Amino acid sequence: MGKISVGVIGATGMVGQNYIRLLDNHPWFEVVYVAASPGSAGRRYKDTVAGRWHMQTEIPDTVGNFIVADANRVSEAKCKCELLFSALDMDKEAVAELELGYAANGLVVVSNNSAHRWTEDVPMMIPEVNPHHLDIIPEQRKKRGWSSGLIAVKSNCSIQSYMTPIYALERDGCKVNKMILSTLEALSGAGYPGPSAIDVVDNIIPYINGEEEKSEIEPNKVLAQIENGAFVNHDPIKVSAHCNRVPVTHGHTACVSLEFADSKPTLDEIRRLWTEFSGIPQELGLPSAPKQPIIYREEVDRPQPKKDRDKDKGMAVVVGRLRECPVFDIRFVGLHHNTVRGAAGGAILTAELLRAQGYLGH
Ligand code: NAP
Repeated sequence: MGKISVGVIGATGMVGQNYIRLLDNHPWFEVVYVAASPGSAGRRYKDTVAGRWHMQTEIPDTVGNFIVADANRVSEAKCKCELLFSALDMDKEAVAELELGYAANGLVVVSNNSAHRWTEDVPMMIPEVNPHHLDIIPEQRKKRGWSSGLIAVKSNCSIQSYMTPIYALERDGCKVNKMILSTLEALSGAGYPGPSAIDVVDNIIPYINGEEEKSEIEPNKVLAQIENGAFVNHDPIKVSAHCNRVPVTHGHTACVSLEFADSKPTLDEIRRLWTEFSGIPQELGLPSAPKQPIIYREEVDRPQPKKDRDKDKGMAVVVGRLRECPVFDIRFVGLHHNTVRGAAGGAILTAELLRAQGYLGH
């Protein structure tokens, strides 16, 4: 079977550039189409991103010469690609409409935007945690009259560093009741150009618009069950979140305290559950799946963004500092690469799961 043709909308931005980098020489997917705002449309990709290409590898030659399309024109992508990664940053309602339009035109849409995270029949994927959420796709297609199109989304980037570790514990019967977390989020999480250097150098900004609300509700959709064509969580985790922007280029850190419902595992059991954790992406050998999804660092001063964010090509979650908590039960520090595992890499892994489960690539 030939490679699946892929479009990237929002291809010029921070997440979009990561798609272009990560999809270069991908064994299953090939980028054939790039789109961005009307201001970038009509120019060669390499000319549009000149001066703002932030990857450490060069722009792939083929994509560099593509003419950028206007992402608002759904019909342009229709005959060119089967799979569409959406990394748009624009008005939410407009993104919601556009993504519905692409899916209605037969494209498989995997999105980093939050526009459809709370759409009832749209799965919010962390492939190691909730691969079974793709079971809602037949319902989504039936309800909307789509035969080949679909929409799946990624959760907010900042929740990645603790959701897989929490799931690894819950899967073993250690239900989490309450969580308090403080995130230290990298600048690249704000897109490009992001906040001004004057605002962030020598500083911490204790506010990220909408981030605390997302951190408090998204975990419970990710851990939900499907009932009657919708995601339902009868036993949600109560979450209190503080989200901060810090002067780190890439890598979101979270300091997390957990209270368990009844069964409280020992610290040794937790470390074992984390280091032995493996999910469906590992079982299926998906091309972007990290070999070890959760890496535990024993050193007292790890994880650190600079030293740990690129583990397993930026797809592993790195945890450390596991200890008893005098208020709740345990506390730890989690870290992940926000534009890779938290954005483009996580979405590519979702698309690989879609293909492995037969929703893509016929
Ligand atoms: P970004 O760097 O600001 O890039 C935004 C992209 O959207 C650019 O390609 C831009 O095109 C395009 N765009 C803007 N206005 C448009 C319009 N009116 N019509 C069509 N295209 C338009 O943002 P980003 O950080 O890559 O984030 C992209 C999405 O991913 C956002 O929804 C964000 O919340 C989400 N996300 C980001 C991260 C992260 O770590 N950065 C992580 C997870 C999720 P031009 O270049 O032509 O303006």
